[in-house]
Amino acid sequence: MQVANTKEHIANLILDLRKTNTSIGFVPTMGALHEGHLSLINKALQENEVVFVSIFVNPTQFENKKDLKNYPRTLNRDIELLKTVSKTRIFVYAPSVEDIYIKNVRSIRFNFDGLENEMEGEFRDGHFDGVGTIVKRLFEIITPDKAYFGEKDFQQLQIIRKLVEKNNLPVKIIGCKIHREPSGLAMSSRNERLSPEHKAASPFIYKTLQAAKKKFGTKSATKITAWVKKQFENNELLVLEYFIIADTDTLKPVKRKSHLKKYRAFIAVHAGEIRLIDNIALN
Ligand code: AMP
Repeated sequence: MQVANTKEHIANLILDLRKTNTSIGFVPTMGALHEGHLSLINKALQENEVVFVSIFVNPTQFENKKDLKNYPRTLNRDIELLKTVSKTRIFVYAPSVEDIYIKNVRSIRFNFDGLENEMEGEFRDGHFDGVGTIVKRLFEIITPDKAYFGEKDFQQLQIIRKLVEKNNLPVKIIGCKIHREPSGLAMSSRNERLSPEHKAASPFIYKTLQAAKKKFGTKSATKITAWVKKQFENNELLVLEYFIIADTDTLKPVKRKSHLKKYRAFIAVHAGEIRLIDNIALN
């Protein structure tokens, strides 16, 4: 399997692939790969001749220095895992911070028409500027035909769609379903840092989302939100940061339901030191 650490190496690989009109899929990741990432990569392999996977813990999207420092980095294990999927059709780009940012480790400021101010934007200052900066940069380096993003980070997916639309970027964005552990917990690189007791408690998050979905047919968003808050007040291990029912397109909290619109419930929870997010389609 080809592993490139520099954008020059990637440029050479892309040049060769384009000579033979090879279709290129792209899956950006921060590594510590798990089945959730592999589900995106497998989808990309079905729809493209080759797939580039980037592995880069992007400093500018971490508003919390401790989270950046503690983020798991397991490059050798990640490469071995990718080899079990395909040695010939997967290309890895694992750059250094300098290769991406040269000397200026800063974000560009973006306007995503307000999508960036909801939910994660409110709790993670500058996070989506960091995400926009790295994804735009990676699109310029890889020049993929299609790029794959998980609904696990649904707000991020909508923001990337906006980034592509506003900048006329020549790439098709594909959203992919959330991959879950058998317990229902959404897979995440952060899960491996959960203590055993927090891990055991965390399936409660998805159970609560499923219960909220059931209620959505008959109850108002305000009632459901109050009910969810109460469930977490009674939980000693999980601390609710937010639960929001929002319009899928604008990500604005729903005031009055309309049958013409699509809604999702979004949740962020602290399980000890680890912050977990999840979401569910409601209609
Ligand atoms: P990350 O490495 O956490 O930045 O994630 C890289 C990509 O994988 C993002 O598009 C995520 O939304 C996606 N992803 C992470 N976990 C999951 C999951 N459990 N199910 C589906 N996609 C996921």
